Amino acid sequence: MQAVLLGPPGSGKGTQAAALADRLGFQHLATGDILREEVKNKTKLGMEAKKFMEKGELVPDKLILEMVSSHLKPDVAYLWDGFPRTEEQAVGLDAMLAVRNLSVDVAVLLEVPDAIIIRRISGRLSCPGCGANYHRETLPSKKEGVCDRCGTRLEARTDDRPEVVARRLAVYREQTSPVMRYYEKQGKLVRVNGDQPPENVTAKLAAVFEAAKGKSQKVDG
Ligand code: AMP
Repeated sequence: MQAVLLGPPGSGKGTQAAALADRLGFQHLATGDILREEVKNKTKLGMEAKKFMEKGELVPDKLILEMVSSHLKPDVAYLWDGFPRTEEQAVGLDAMLAVRNLSVDVAVLLEVPDAIIIRRISGRLSCPGCGANYHRETLPSKKEGVCDRCGTRLEARTDDRPEVVARRLAVYREQTSPVMRYYEKQGKLVRVNGDQPPENVTAKLAAVFEAAKGKSQKVDG
C-alpha cells in the first residue's frame, strides 16, 4: 500500500502523517525532513538544496528523485509527505514503484484556505532534535520553547518567514497543482477538508487510508 499526502505548506501533512504512520503501519517519508537533515549535516546534497529551500523554491527534480530512490526500501508501505511536488516527480515515483510491482494506491489532498495557512505557519515551531512539531497558540510545548519529548530548544523554520511562505504558496499553486490533476485523472485523488480540528482530520484520513488498503489487498490477491 502506497499513499501520497498532498496539500499546501502548513496544511498539516507532517502532523497528520506522524499521527497516522504507526497506527496504520506506514513508514512516513517526508522529503522536506530528509532535506533539512542533509542541510544540517552540510552534505553535498544539503548544500545544493539549501539554495532553493531558503528562497521557497523547489529543489530540482533530478536531485529529489535520486534522493528518494536511495531511501526506498523494498516491501515497505510508504506514506509520502511533500513528495511528489511536480508532475515529473509523480512520473518518477510511478517508475520507481513499478519496478517493485507496486503503484500509488491513493493520493489525499488536504485542502486549507490561504489565510488559515499563513496563521498556522507563523506560529509553527519544531524540534531540531527529534522532529516533533509544535505551534505557539494551538499546540504549545509544556515549557515554552523547549521540546516535551527530548528537551531540545525549539526553532522556527527559516523558510517559515512570511516572504518565503508567500513564495512557497505560489510555487505550490504553479508546480504542485499538476500533481493533483495527475492523480485525479487516474481516479486516485481524495479531497479532505484540512480546516477542522486535527483529530477530526486524522479520523477522516484514517478512514480513507483503511478503505484504500482494503481495495489494494483485494487487487493483490
Ligand atoms: P516541506 O517541509 O515539505 O515544506 O519542504 C521544505 C522545502 O524543501 C520546500 O520548500 C522545498 O524547497 C524543499 N522540498 C521538499 N520536498 C520537495 C520535493 N518533493 N521537491 C522539491 N523540493 C522539495
